[in-house]
Amino acid sequence: MADARDDASLENVRVRFLGRSGEITNVRRSIGTLPPPERPEAGKTINAAVADLEASLADAARALASRELERALQTTIDVTFPGGTPNTGSLHPIRRAMEDACGYFERRGFAVVLGNEIETEYYNFDALNIPADHPAREGLDSFYLAPGSLLRTHTSPMQVRTMREHPAPVAIVVPGKAYRRDAIDARHSPMFHQIEGLLVAPGIHLGHLKGVLEGLFRELFGPRQAVRFRPSFFPFTEPSAEVDTTCPGCGGGGCRTCGGSGWIEIGGSGMVHPNVLRESGYDPAQVTGWAFGVGIERIAMVRQDVDDIRVLFENDPRVLARLA
Ligand SMILES: [Zn+2]
Repeated sequence: MADARDDASLENVRVRFLGRSGEITNVRRSIGTLPPPERPEAGKTINAAVADLEASLADAARALASRELERALQTTIDVTFPGGTPNTGSLHPIRRAMEDACGYFERRGFAVVLGNEIETEYYNFDALNIPADHPAREGLDSFYLAPGSLLRTHTSPMQVRTMREHPAPVAIVVPGKAYRRDAIDARHSPMFHQIEGLLVAPGIHLGHLKGVLEGLFRELFGPRQAVRFRPSFFPFTEPSAEVDTTCPGCGGGGCRTCGGSGWIEIGGSGMVHPNVLRESGYDPAQVTGWAFGVGIERIAMVRQDVDDIRVLFENDPRVLARLA
């Protein structure tokens, strides 16, 4: 009994001997069947037995409690016991994609410049060869503020702003937020992030752009990425091209992510339109340049294998921990 494992086994012993139909209880009940002179002696013996048993049970309970206390004390002072891990934060997938892309360009001598999210219509549209009646404005509809200003629809206004302040050559990237009047769904958000690139100098051509983008995608997605240009139209570049890269999900073989094509669209690009160079005070006969813009959410979604843009903005810590 002294080494009883727990309270339950002690209680079993008590019930077995002292319970309502316990062995000692039954003996006590049978006292009435003894001849009267023998009853007091029998009663005394039984009472002594009960007292002994109760004392033993109490000793055993105390021993049990002290063993448990000893165990608890040893646990609390066990300095080798593994500690709890505090929750640590990590960079958001969007921030990481942006920093990785900027790091790639900084190591190649590009300056990182940030523009204002509230822009003038002039720098957002007119200076980029998109006059007020140009149909391209419809696809770039924005949130208009005071007359003549709006939330920028792309980071491209920094092209002209930078060229006006710095003579050629210029090499910049512009990471940041842009805004469009898109309804929220799995692929669209009225606020999103872009990184814009601009390189203007004598003799710059599309081959330089392709090489730089190939290096960027290899840094972001893996060493086997290729780049594909598809003819397109943007008012501020001529010629213009959509930029595709090898689908990292399937390596180009075709899968659900790329719709079976083996390529994913990641941005737009082209040679800076002569009108934009002139508007910036540059001479298109002296310098040429390219510009591109890629979607940061797109990069983050492909890298994290997320197929709904809203996951990136809801900021559920359980989801973000999985993406970290
Ligand atoms: Zn694929």
